[in-house]
Amino acid sequence: MSNHQPTLMERRAYCAYGRLQPLECQARCTESKRVPRKPLSEISGNRRRINRSQKPKRVQTGCKLCGVHLCVKQGCFHKYHA
Ligand SMILES: [Zn+2]
Ligand SMILES: [Zn+2]
Repeated sequence: MSNHQPTLMERRAYCAYGRLQPLECQARCTESKRVPRKPLSEISGNRRRINRSQKPKRVQTGCKLCGVHLCVKQGCFHKYHA
């Protein structure tokens, strides 16, 4: 019973596996609706934002034994321990 098990964490945080492999963690995030927005970045000069799709998903599940947050539904939990 000393194995790693999915646990509900106290807070939400970025998926630890997603930090290592953002693309794999975000595999299903692309299904969300695309909402076209007008760029409001003109005020901040010529600076452009870095691809924000690189950020991992925020989840409330994780491994208590490792003390890290991991997506359970997307398989990050198993991949992290693989
Ligand atoms: Zn993940
Ligand atoms: Zn673990």
